[in-house]
Formats: sequence, C-alpha cells, structure tokens
Amino acid sequence: MSDSDHHHSHEDGSTLTDIQKRVKALESILVSKGLVERAAIDQIIEHFEHKVGPHVGARVVARAWVNPEFKHALLKDATQAINHQSDFPEVGQHLIAIENSDSLHNVVVCTLCSCYPWDVLGLPPVWYKSAPYRSRIVSDPRSVLKEFGLKLSVGKKVRVWDSTAETRYLVIPQRPVGTEAISESELAKLVTRDSMIGTGVASFSAESKDHG
Ligand code: FE
Repeated sequence: MSDSDHHHSHEDGSTLTDIQKRVKALESILVSKGLVERAAIDQIIEHFEHKVGPHVGARVVARAWVNPEFKHALLKDATQAINHQSDFPEVGQHLIAIENSDSLHNVVVCTLCSCYPWDVLGLPPVWYKSAPYRSRIVSDPRSVLKEFGLKLSVGKKVRVWDSTAETRYLVIPQRPVGTEAISESELAKLVTRDSMIGTGVASFSAESKDHG
C-alpha cells in the first residue's frame, strides 16, 4: 500500500541545491538510524504542500468577501470564526484578521524572527524571514511595498503589524472591482499569499471580463 519507495526523477545530486543536499543527507541519517520513517516524512511534506497552505487563507478571505456575517466574526476573533466553519482546517494559533480598505493598507512582519500564520498560509516565503524585509518594512514600508510592485496612493495609510509568538496576523485584502458576479470558490483563486501578508493585493484579470 505504501508508496514511500517512490523515487523522484531529480534524485541525481548534481541538480540539487546545497539546502536540498543537506536536507537529503539529514533525511538519510534519520531514516538509517531508524529515528523516522520515510513515509512519515512524506506525510509531513504532503501536509505542508497540500493541506496547509495559502489556499486555506484564500478560502477564508473569499468567504469574508461574500459573507458579511462571517467577516464580522473573523474580524472579532479569527481563530474562533474559522474553527466554527466546518469546511476549514482547524486553526491552533491565535489569529487576528485585519482588513484593508480604501484608506488603509495593512502589512505583516515578524521583526524578531519569522512568526507566520502557518495554519492559514503554510510555509513562509524566504524573503519574509530575511533581515532586510524585517527591518525595512518597519522603517520604510512604502519603499518596500513599491519593490513588491505595490504602488499605494498617497492618501492611503500603511499600518505594519509585528507578529509575536502568541499572535499571528492575516490580512484581508480588498475585493477586486468587477468581481460582483463571481462565486466564492472562484474568488478564492484571486487571493494570493502576498495579498494576505500585505505585500500584494488581490487582483482580477480584465481578460475574463465581459467586454460586450
Ligand atoms: Fe517570529
């Protein structure tokens, strides 16, 4: 039944990065010493690649866009609101949802280390953990956001939220214009990871619009 003997085509060491080689070496040692089973590792990877990830947060945001009652509950207590919905995975972290508006843009950082809302966004991107992002987003958020391709209007306020070990933040991006007729599941596809960190926005491609 197990497919743990399955081998990837990129097994050839020469195509692996240093980090990948280190991970492979570590995995081999742990497996050979009987400390972990390869199937267990596969299960953890499967968990973070497919079960936990930005698609969870995206579904939460899409529901908040279409369901005012859920949005109200989400802004009040995000952990509880999500856990009360039977079709979302369980959130264990203390999660706070913050909403973008015409006058306010929110962006999230962990200045001390790399605290991140894993339950709803999965693994953090490398830049999120980098020292330059962690210091510059606080001292000069507009410039950093510009580097991410985000040009905020002069009148828009930027608020930077610093995560802690106890508190994680999820940004609810603004619902893109022209999406009034789009279903919740289609809306979720417009919600990117970066838009939920605040280094991006949710956008809707004009291609799919009716030009008639
Ligand atoms: Fe941290």
